Amino acid sequence: MTDIAKRGFEYAPSRESRELVTLAPSYGLYVGGAFVEPRSGERFTTIDPSTEEPLAEIAQAGAEDVAAAVAAAREAYEERWSQIRPAERAKYLFRVARILQERSRELAVLESLNGGKPIRESRDVDLPLAAAHFFYYAGWADKLEYAFPNAKPRPLGVAAQVIPWNFPLLMLAWKVAPALAAGNTVVLKPAHTTPLTALAFCDVLRQAEVPPGVVNIVTGDGRAGAALVRHPDVDKVAFTGSTEVGKDIQRAVAGTGKKLTLELGGKAANIVFDDAPLDQAVEGIVNGIYFNQGEVCCAGSRLLVQESIAGAVVAKLQRRLSTLRVGDPLDKNTDVGAINSREQLDKIEALVEAGKEEGAEIYQPPCQLPERGFWFPPTVFTNVAQSYRIAQEEIFGPVLSVLTFRTPEEAIEKANNTPYGLSAGVWTEKGSRILWAAQRLKAGVVWANTYNRFDPTSPFGGYKESGFGREGGLHGLEPYLRLE
Ligand code: NDP
Repeated sequence: MTDIAKRGFEYAPSRESRELVTLAPSYGLYVGGAFVEPRSGERFTTIDPSTEEPLAEIAQAGAEDVAAAVAAAREAYEERWSQIRPAERAKYLFRVARILQERSRELAVLESLNGGKPIRESRDVDLPLAAAHFFYYAGWADKLEYAFPNAKPRPLGVAAQVIPWNFPLLMLAWKVAPALAAGNTVVLKPAHTTPLTALAFCDVLRQAEVPPGVVNIVTGDGRAGAALVRHPDVDKVAFTGSTEVGKDIQRAVAGTGKKLTLELGGKAANIVFDDAPLDQAVEGIVNGIYFNQGEVCCAGSRLLVQESIAGAVVAKLQRRLSTLRVGDPLDKNTDVGAINSREQLDKIEALVEAGKEEGAEIYQPPCQLPERGFWFPPTVFTNVAQSYRIAQEEIFGPVLSVLTFRTPEEAIEKANNTPYGLSAGVWTEKGSRILWAAQRLKAGVVWANTYNRFDPTSPFGGYKESGFGREGGLHGLEPYLRLE
């Protein structure tokens, strides 16, 4: 055995420069094309979850602030955005896409700093995909008549959009790009733990000379979101987040005539059949649950593995886990970054405790977690019964529950045994088995021999308690249009 093989790899630290980002000490609300002071007079501090270091003071929008943002969006819709030619709208979206590309290093650092995700992911996934969404929907802006033939597509008016903290800029792009392409104006509320890339996006809008009021950003906690979705002058509500808040929003908009799309939680099954290429499958399992610390609505949090290969898969998985590097999100070697907030860490810890108490067997590779900040090691539970909370509830953390099956029918039954229906993965060498499984899985997205693969041209969304409506692709335009 060589020396290297005995010692393992030693990584030289490779920290992305924090200097790429310039932060203001405090930020206002972005309304009508300018930053304004919150009328509520309230502010809060946003932090770096990997160190708990304060980053900036953020405005908490109150009901009056939300009303001012909706009024600005309405005026921009009536006076400007609905008056310009669709090809002009496309020009602005292309500009935004190009500026996102040009500023991608800066924005990736900001995303990792405020959200805790590894720079490798914000740099290679979040930013390229955010730009791709603007490029893609820019292409549709002047072709809506072809996208929906004989249907006279018309914009709705003002869209209220509330997004979560797991992919802040990417979720913004998923929401803002189709809304603008379809001719609507927007008021968007980012999550209170991750407002900074949405605020930096305001500068991107100014650089792109997007007319004032077309996009308004109101920061703050759930109170601002609740006021926004309830505002009477909003025509469309788009929400991504927890099922609980999604249900509350659905109740609030019922009977108002507002169009609604909800992208909620998930408890996806990643199914590995005995003929699957195991090394590839193990990479897919790792990507499925440890990508973005498992804080992903479509995370493959339930591994369903055929009984005959379960031992081999778990052994390979455990070996692979010991090579994952947990730590500084800005280090390019990092695989698993910080948990987004204290509340989320508490939730993960409580569910992991429940898993141990219910009788599942826990495995965590030895790894040294930083002293400050919010951290949780990659975790695998075996001996998991379907009734355990860790097999039923969305953990939204780097925690995998392993269950086994004997026949393909059993795999499908177990995979569908959840109130959710957002995504699933299938690993097998047989094309016919992929199609057989995909037809039976009650999930909006089914990945075959891959996982967490996103593309702006491909629709994404759920069944059952995972919500309704689709984002991405042509399907993603429809919720922002009236078809006559
Ligand atoms: P929430 O659903 O509370 O947050 C999502 C967004 O909604 C945030 O911008 C939040 O604001 C806002 N919000 C909160 N309450 C209301 C309300 N009453 N009306 C309108 N908007 C509101 O998710 P959490 O951050 O609390 O996470 C809790 C759990 O939800 C996670 O553990 C995970 O299981 C799941 N989740 C699922 C996501 C998904 O992608 N499907 C994304 C995030 C979480 P603010 O955060 O500022 O309070």
